[in-house]
Amino acid sequence: MTTAAPTPAAQTDAPTAGTWSAPGRVNLIGEHTDYNDGFVFPFAIEYRTSVRLTTRDDARIRVASTFDPDAVEVALADLAALFPARRDEIVEWARYPLGAAWALLQASGADPASVPGVDLDFSSDVPVGAGLSSSAAIEGATAAALNDVWGLGLDRVALAQVGRRAENEAVGAPTGIMDQMASMLGRADAGTFLDCRSLEAQVVELGFAPAGLALLVMDTKVTHAHSTGGYGERRAACERGAAIMGVPALRDLTPADLPRAAELMDDVTFRRVRHVVTEDQRVLDAVATLRAEGPRAIGHLLDASHVSMRDDFEISVPELDLAVDTARAAGAVGARMTGGGFGGAAIALVDLGLVPAVTDAVEKAFADAGYTAPHIFTVTPSEGARRDG
Ligand code: ADP
Ligand code: MG
Repeated sequence: MTTAAPTPAAQTDAPTAGTWSAPGRVNLIGEHTDYNDGFVFPFAIEYRTSVRLTTRDDARIRVASTFDPDAVEVALADLAALFPARRDEIVEWARYPLGAAWALLQASGADPASVPGVDLDFSSDVPVGAGLSSSAAIEGATAAALNDVWGLGLDRVALAQVGRRAENEAVGAPTGIMDQMASMLGRADAGTFLDCRSLEAQVVELGFAPAGLALLVMDTKVTHAHSTGGYGERRAACERGAAIMGVPALRDLTPADLPRAAELMDDVTFRRVRHVVTEDQRVLDAVATLRAEGPRAIGHLLDASHVSMRDDFEISVPELDLAVDTARAAGAVGARMTGGGFGGAAIALVDLGLVPAVTDAVEKAFADAGYTAPHIFTVTPSEGARRDG
């Protein structure tokens, strides 16, 4: 009773090459530690950016997104001249995928004349600017797709570095490697414990569901801009602190070094340093605690991380503080702002049965304060970048 499956039209008149996707991520703990060569512990989420890739025979790359009615098209051979020097000629969103293509060609040493041209059509359900790294998702989807279709053979860590280079040099946002590593290396039900100096990554089981816990994201809708202002100032303070202490990066300090740091630097620089040094320690503690006692035991580390970002690193905003404080008061196991700061989202680890109550409490607190209504939803630790079809 078997019948031959009809050949799909798309295969007969080929050049369609397929669909790839890469996820956004939530950082469970370890904020502003990545560019200090330290530790982070993010996980990939089920929200993804997909790219439909179609090859073309004219050595050009065209990127299009549901975000923008206008596609952008350039010759592959022109990417090297556009990035980073003339990136301003490219509309901002298109710098992410075109920058990833550029960084991939640079990293692989491939001759742009030797690879097929491509059309890349993006669609995404990763909320933008909410601290969930839609940027790493579009970079990761691009890098994974082109790496396969161009036959470059880069591994996942190298692809994460491609994404970071695109973001740093083609977009001009001075971010660390965390987002791209999380998006590339994610696994279902697990987090990525990452040493940002060695890029050594360990998959650590999170066990939220077995423990009866959910991870709630509370998007404050306050927008942030990574490429400007406070983020650069924080990076500069960290570099200053490391230089004063005579170490290559703040990663090389431990909490035992803090009394000496307090003597050597001004108050603001010291508090920036104290955040990073204690946050590195909290990441190590979170991983050890998860392994030994399970996720319910990490709540106080999430809480302490928020206090450190609010008071020492000073990257929180009133909306994030309100979300965190209200979630905790409504029974969350722990809560903290997540992502680069100055807006975006907070997270709360919450008993499954308390998700509606915590959500209601935060929504009501925002309404009472006259803030824009937050967007509150759960996320599930999920697979990293992959080919979908
Ligand atoms: P976040 O990474 O926290 O979401 P960023 O400011 O780092 O915020 O990156 C968001 C930017 O990335 C968007 O403003 C847009 O330029 C680009 N971007 C992300 N996803 C897409 C997409 N699917 N299509 C087009 N551009 C996207
Ligand atoms: Mg981003």
